[in-house]
Amino acid sequence: MTTPPHPPTPGSSLPPLAGGTHGPDALRPLVATVLDALASGAAERRGRPLPAGGPEATAAHVLAAATPVLPEHGAGAGEALTALVHSMAAGAADPGHPLCAAHLHTPPLAVAVAADLAASALNQSLDSWDQAPAAAALEALVTRALAAEVYRAATPGHAPSPDALVTTGGTESNQLALLLAREAHARTGGGVQVVTGEHTHHSVTRAAWLLGLPEPVTVPAPGGTLDLAALDDALTTLRGPLLVAATAGTTDTGAIDPLPAIADLCARHGARFHVDAAYGAPLLFSPRRAHLLDGLARAHTVTLDLHKLGWQPVAAGLLAVPDTTLLAPLEHTADYLNADDDTEAGLPDLLGRSLRTTRRPDILKIAVTLRALGRTGLGALVDHLCDSAQELAEAIAKHPRLELYETPTLTTVLFRPTGPGDTPLPDTTVAAVRRTLLTEGAAVLGRARAGGRLWLKTTLLNPHTTPDDLGALLTRVERLADTLVEGSTPR
Ligand SMILES: *Cc1c(COP(=O)(O)O)cnc(C)c1O
Repeated sequence: MTTPPHPPTPGSSLPPLAGGTHGPDALRPLVATVLDALASGAAERRGRPLPAGGPEATAAHVLAAATPVLPEHGAGAGEALTALVHSMAAGAADPGHPLCAAHLHTPPLAVAVAADLAASALNQSLDSWDQAPAAAALEALVTRALAAEVYRAATPGHAPSPDALVTTGGTESNQLALLLAREAHARTGGGVQVVTGEHTHHSVTRAAWLLGLPEPVTVPAPGGTLDLAALDDALTTLRGPLLVAATAGTTDTGAIDPLPAIADLCARHGARFHVDAAYGAPLLFSPRRAHLLDGLARAHTVTLDLHKLGWQPVAAGLLAVPDTTLLAPLEHTADYLNADDDTEAGLPDLLGRSLRTTRRPDILKIAVTLRALGRTGLGALVDHLCDSAQELAEAIAKHPRLELYETPTLTTVLFRPTGPGDTPLPDTTVAAVRRTLLTEGAAVLGRARAGGRLWLKTTLLNPHTTPDDLGALLTRVERLADTLVEGSTPR
């Protein structure tokens, strides 16, 4: 046994640290304080998914709890944690509440959050091996394993050595995908024309703007997915290097583009193929539903987001490629992090695995979750939520006063209330229903425009939500629409 490193100075007034052999002892009482504050904050919401009273009431509570922001003399760890964690929990949008179902805002698994605590305590930084030895090795192992899941169905030879980069989410993954496409054509004058659908995530357009690429050409998606004839036309007409960005799980409806047919068109026209599967990728874990992602393995780049249908705390994004050599454009040297002689001597070079420098070991919570639940555990969660969405859609379709947009593919269900006698309500009433629920803190529903109308959006990500919870939500929406139509104050 070696002596424990950096023992605390006896009687020291210096704040304790989280690392080393003494860190856990310093953390234990603080974590207990945090857990108490989380519980008391949640209790203050009185069973609501959102604080009541809207932005002004919440800001007033935060002002009271969080000032002075920088006191002259510190209040101490216990007081600061209690006041601020309680305040944030009391004013939280709680994705663990069954009626918090607006966005791809996931309720994180307890096991993943516990692992994330370890990631914070260890504070490894994945910009050089000497700041993250085991984390670097774990990241290499897990990213390759996940990329192999994505490219499992690839034709032999197409995916010789699948690999993935860890990102902060779909936005960064999409940016990297466009960057890799641009760099693949750097020698032929650069510039790549992105072709997307009108339903594609806004981050693709922004990435093109950020990277100095021409504005993406937008193909219609009349049924919620890319129109193949229109895509074929666009690819026939456009000149120069092309990148088609398709979506597996759109943000508004959860629809999946016809990936095999798009892959065929890309092959025929010599276009690169990117799939934004930020939402839909975890279908890979479900034997019942993996076929919905047929064609995914033919993509040059695939975006995955495990802080959505993967139940990770933010951030847990990935960008997968069929072969690790495709990441070469990101190679970059900074002598203090990856000097050539260090790399030649065998120190792993991490700088080319991100555009960031300092980088959290987000891989730890992902690795723990994959191991804790296994493929069947994850697949069962995915199936359970997709099945719940089907049941919710059936309940809406049967409901005399609600209209269903379409049968869901993933876990997003769009619906809207109808007026008395099935009369259509104006979009403004649908929007008012959503805002009233937010102000009351009663439910968090999203909104989506589809087929020219505004819909309420429920995105089911919480495996603990029951049909009764959702039934109560539908009743609440129906009553609220009635009161808003009558013009009286909502109950
Ligand atoms: C959520 C989402 C994104 C953006 O991902 P972030 O993690 O929020 O950056 C991109 N594309 C799709 C399809 C998404 O659902």
